[in-house]
Amino acid sequence: MGRITLSDICKSFGAVHVLHGIDLDIAEGELVVFVGPSGCGKSTLLRLIAGLEKPTSGKIEINGNDVTRVNAADRGLAMVFQSYALYPHMSVRQNMAFGLENAHLPKSEIADRIAEASRMLEIGDYLDRRPGQLSGGQRQRVAIGRAIVRNPTAFLLDEPLSNLDAELRVSMRAELASLHARLKTTMIYVTHDQIEAMTLADRIVVLRKGRIEQVDTPLNLFNRPANLFVAGFIGAPA
Ligand code: ADP
Ligand code: MG
Repeated sequence: MGRITLSDICKSFGAVHVLHGIDLDIAEGELVVFVGPSGCGKSTLLRLIAGLEKPTSGKIEINGNDVTRVNAADRGLAMVFQSYALYPHMSVRQNMAFGLENAHLPKSEIADRIAEASRMLEIGDYLDRRPGQLSGGQRQRVAIGRAIVRNPTAFLLDEPLSNLDAELRVSMRAELASLHARLKTTMIYVTHDQIEAMTLADRIVVLRKGRIEQVDTPLNLFNRPANLFVAGFIGAPA
């Protein structure tokens, strides 16, 4: 279950109005990509869904439950950032186990989940290393693994590959696509990279200055952009 519904979401930081009435319905299992220029509000919208920020007005529902005022830890979502945010003093295994131990999962269940995620992401060989002993790509895999073991209702990824070099970004993108195909868990993926959006998304949400310009499949956005901004951003003829 991973249906996420946003109704008329507005967000201001003091006098700065960042989001203006966002309506969006994300289906169970969908991979939705938020794109738009830097500063258009992508991260803010994702942080609102995560519960790391509260909207100024509007409603957020997960599987039909109003979670607008529910804390991040109780929303059952997992977030992956571009800066991996791994604990530097813990091993890979400890990094992955940490949230589960706090949730008082049985040790055997924790071990099983780590083994499964490690197999999926091919990180089994360095479970006992610390983040500082890993490459950027390996660290990002661990960050994704740490999200997977939580069995989240949805994954929220904020430019997860933007710190990686171009070649690694392409292979990680393919891995994320196959991961989504296997897990079938709802994913919301933020990027400012049009190619990443076009190759990954079931649907793309094009944002501009805190408003949604268009929501559609990559193909429809390309073939029928709603306006010049979308056409220019997606790289399609207007
Ligand atoms: P994006 O991720 O699309 O680049 P952000 O969501 O990070 O954009 O930011 C959108 C706008 O909101 C920017 O103008 C940014 O300066 C502003 N903003 C984001 N977070 C805060 C904050 N905590 N306080 C004040 N302004 C913020
Ligand atoms: Mg951002």
